[in-house]
Amino acid sequence: MSIAPAPEHADQPRFVRPPPPALRHDCALFLDIDGTLAELASVPEAVRVDQELVRSLPRIMRDLGGALALVTGRAITSADRLFPGLTLPMAGQHGCERRDAAGSIHLHAPHRKTQARLRKLLRRLARRHPQLLLEDKGAALALHYRALPDLAPQLYRAVRRSLREDDGYSLQPGKLLIEVKPHEFDKGTAINDFMAETPFAGRLPVFVGDDLTDEDGFASVERLGGWTVKVGGGRTRAQYRLPDVGAVIRWLLAPIHDAPARGSATSATTLPRS
Ligand SMILES: [Mg+2]
Repeated sequence: MSIAPAPEHADQPRFVRPPPPALRHDCALFLDIDGTLAELASVPEAVRVDQELVRSLPRIMRDLGGALALVTGRAITSADRLFPGLTLPMAGQHGCERRDAAGSIHLHAPHRKTQARLRKLLRRLARRHPQLLLEDKGAALALHYRALPDLAPQLYRAVRRSLREDDGYSLQPGKLLIEVKPHEFDKGTAINDFMAETPFAGRLPVFVGDDLTDEDGFASVERLGGWTVKVGGGRTRAQYRLPDVGAVIRWLLAPIHDAPARGSATSATTLPRS
């Protein structure tokens, strides 16, 4: 069994973070969806994205030379429904599937036997407690316990008992959900994959996210010298913070600045930590 590690800086009492600088034309922008671009809802299907933002995304993408991708725990098919008319580069299921900028889909096959065993366990739990919601994404499986938060310790115990060291699956805690997913992929590996490709390569990576799974993305972007932005409260390794979804949208809709001249002190490799 493996459990997502706590953020490296989780024990540091330095929770206050400044807001991020304005986006620049040389940024490669990676955005989580739920809790970042859209308020959380009782079920994933009820989530809605601000329409002005949806209309503005193609313009923002053009301003960034096409280097904008969504990085979500949702399956790509589920996330696409939130952005009608758009086919955005996207990593789904925490990096287990990815649609690159050319529109090609990269799929990481799940461990079938383990997945079948875990699906059986989660289905049994969902049958026993009908207010639980099982979200079968393909490779990853999520059990939402928003309606029964007191059940969380029992669910974690049941899933931990079922996971074995050589499963290739790990437990991923989320906001009022417990998830199991292939452990070799996460939001960080997805961002690394994008950053190795056109039009992302060579740009300053920026990742915005609100949840524990986003800490993997923050770690990757940190290694690449980019900007990391946590949405909402709580411990994080991110450098910057925006208080809520509304602040994220305002930041995204603000004018995008020119990149500094080459050799300037704010280039990707010499960015000062806050
Ligand atoms: Mg989120």
